[in-house]
Amino acid sequence: MPFQLPEITYPLSIDSIGKLLTLGHEVTIHCHEYGCGHSTRINLVQLARKLGMDHSILEQDLKPHFFCSRCRDAGRASTNFGFVHHSMTLPHSEWPIEREEERQRVIRARR
Ligand SMILES: [Zn+2]
Repeated sequence: MPFQLPEITYPLSIDSIGKLLTLGHEVTIHCHEYGCGHSTRINLVQLARKLGMDHSILEQDLKPHFFCSRCRDAGRASTNFGFVHHSMTLPHSEWPIEREEERQRVIRARR
């Protein structure tokens, strides 16, 4: 089933998985367990399919749906992990054509 991204309204309140996707934001998860330190980027599309676009992104609302795979493999039942919200930043969110144009401008300016 196709996704319906939520409409962004102002004043802006980024409080749902859908709004993160609409705004191009990302969330990474970081395990704080001593000796682990596993971290990864969350697939927000997959998460929205599972929990819904309107699901809250507060830590206490996301946490029950996650675990640290490395700790679980090691037999630890760690809930000692947290989330980091990333706004859309360069270079990850940069469009290839714009990046190439900027590169050309810099090369031309050097000559
Ligand atoms: Zn871990």
